[in-house]
Amino acid sequence: MKALVYNGPRDVTVTDVPDARIESPTDVIVRITSANICGSDLHMYEGRTDVEQGKTLGHENMGIVEEVGSGITRLKVGDRVSLPFNIACGHCRNCNRGKTAFCLEVNPGFAGGAFGYADMGPYQGGQAEHLRVPFADFNALRLPAGTEHELDYTMLSDIFPTGWHGTRLSGLEPGESVAIMGAGPVGLMAAMSARIQGADQVYVVDQHPDRLRLAERAGATPVDFSAGDPAQQIMEATGGVGVDRGVEAVGWQAHDHSGEEQPAGTLDTLVQVVRATGGIGVVGVFPPQDPNGPDELMQQGRLAFPFGQFFTKGLTMGTGQADVKKYNRQLRDLITQGKADPGFIVSHEMDLAQAAEGYRHFDAREDGWTKVVLHP
Ligand code: NAD
Ligand code: ZN
Repeated sequence: MKALVYNGPRDVTVTDVPDARIESPTDVIVRITSANICGSDLHMYEGRTDVEQGKTLGHENMGIVEEVGSGITRLKVGDRVSLPFNIACGHCRNCNRGKTAFCLEVNPGFAGGAFGYADMGPYQGGQAEHLRVPFADFNALRLPAGTEHELDYTMLSDIFPTGWHGTRLSGLEPGESVAIMGAGPVGLMAAMSARIQGADQVYVVDQHPDRLRLAERAGATPVDFSAGDPAQQIMEATGGVGVDRGVEAVGWQAHDHSGEEQPAGTLDTLVQVVRATGGIGVVGVFPPQDPNGPDELMQQGRLAFPFGQFFTKGLTMGTGQADVKKYNRQLRDLITQGKADPGFIVSHEMDLAQAAEGYRHFDAREDGWTKVVLHP
């Protein structure tokens, strides 16, 4: 079958790989109808992880069940399903508590497994014609049959639940205000989620005009950090009060206007603008080490952010990968009922064969390339 494989930094190609096949009775094989390129894929694409050469990428997957293992009782051939990017066993200590992003069984020695991702286990990704899905009765979410809402439902595998998770980690309540760092797909999903949850004022910080326009479309006030210190802009916009909540949706490759990486820059801003006793949700990725990091601290996975101010203000912080299964069923139903339209961020739909081109443009954050969906 055809699949997108990683060859090295900024080098991915669509090539023939061995067919996905049932390896365990609880597997199913899904024929992929949509697989998105994620900002998380770009950390690998840019050579900032230790992902192995030859790995098939792709963790934002949906499609049609084509074959079921002998131990499958719930799923049927022909079911249309969304696959959470997390692979979870469904019965370990963490899965039992709903913390499926931290499954203790699927990736021994590590809490958490995922499709097509560095350090997340031996699982191939879904930027391919077919995908092997482990523990599929537990992991797969069934979708209404047909082809309706394909671009909305395809956001259920990762970024819609992840954006939602960021707002939940921040402790957002109806009527509160929130500042979101990053207007990439995750930040935009956080903005839409905040609006659905009844946020009063939503600020989204980025410097790309196309992404900031989408933030406005999601009901947020755009803050352009190329025009000046974003903390100062938010303090001025709130009459010096600041916001109740903050969401970090950039990760450690955050940079300033000149492009210089500042791994702690977004947290620094949030600690300044979130009011005393407020909360911060961090869903942007921060790795345990980055040998190519911009400074010695980040190379060891350490961050210098104003912890003293964080403590003095009595702030709280929640972090980590999103437990997609905790949210995806309800978010699916919001889409079906027309109350959420996460597909609004999609700028490009491409054949799998064009995937390398999609990576190149999306990685450059080129104007108008806000989210790429591949259709194998
Ligand atoms: P993206 O790279 O497309 O978007 C990031 C955005 O942040 C860009 O638009 C960029 O201009 C902006 N940015 C950079 N520096 C900034 C700064 N200093 N201040 C404000 N904005 C800044 O990526 P994405 O797909 O939106 O993903 C965002 C992050 O979320 C990544 O780190 C990704 O790995 C992570 N992620 C986490 C989870 C999870 O489960 N926790 C899931 C998916 C993605
Ligand atoms: Zn993703």
